[in-house]
Amino acid sequence: MKDELDSRIHTLAQWLYESGHLVVFTGAGISTESGLPDFRGPDGMWTRRDKGLPPRPMTRPWDSVEPNSGHIAIKKLQDLGKLAFLISQNVDNLHLKSGIRPDLLAELHGNITRLRCTRCGETVSKSAGLSSCQCGGRLVSSVVNFGESLPQRDLGLSFEHSRKSDLFVVVGSSLVVTPAADMPREALRSGARLVIINHGETPFDRLAHLRFHEKIGEVLPRAVKRLKRLMGMFE
Ligand SMILES: [Zn+2]
Repeated sequence: MKDELDSRIHTLAQWLYESGHLVVFTGAGISTESGLPDFRGPDGMWTRRDKGLPPRPMTRPWDSVEPNSGHIAIKKLQDLGKLAFLISQNVDNLHLKSGIRPDLLAELHGNITRLRCTRCGETVSKSAGLSSCQCGGRLVSSVVNFGESLPQRDLGLSFEHSRKSDLFVVVGSSLVVTPAADMPREALRSGARLVIINHGETPFDRLAHLRFHEKIGEVLPRAVKRLKRLMGMFE
């Protein structure tokens, strides 16, 4: 069984190596490995969001939650020049905290640490303490509640990169919420390879070219390490 996992990790590394337009798509599953609550549980953030409720206050400050080995592996893909775009359903700020460049990231459901301008759509850190944007527009929570439309820039870029991708890697998402779930479909339509790393089932399992049910932390860091070797870099 272990050898079989090794061989799938090697395949993933090889595909990362060959990819000219890699798109990574992350969901709550990547952050549960950082000790964040199960967002889909009975009182999870997403369950509450779907009911139109705000996120439950965290028992510890958001600032204290750190990116885990999965987030760090994606950041390494960026450092290796391999990451074309990252699409995330998460609002936990862990991708930005790991060092992902804001211009390579779409946060489809907003970011708990940022406010968004109702007029121009720009976002600013809550910590700046501003109540209005430079353009004069009002700043409100950037987190998207049920029934609210997704941020246009993020959504547009996500579809654009999904269509351009030749390798689309889903990390910790069950791909059940649209329009996010439409993105792997766009990628497949463009001929991309689809890789899914998710504990539970997804509607795309039968379409995936490579499937991991293992923990993200057991797969992605090893694939990136292997990729570095393929690129001629040794640690
Ligand atoms: Zn503005």
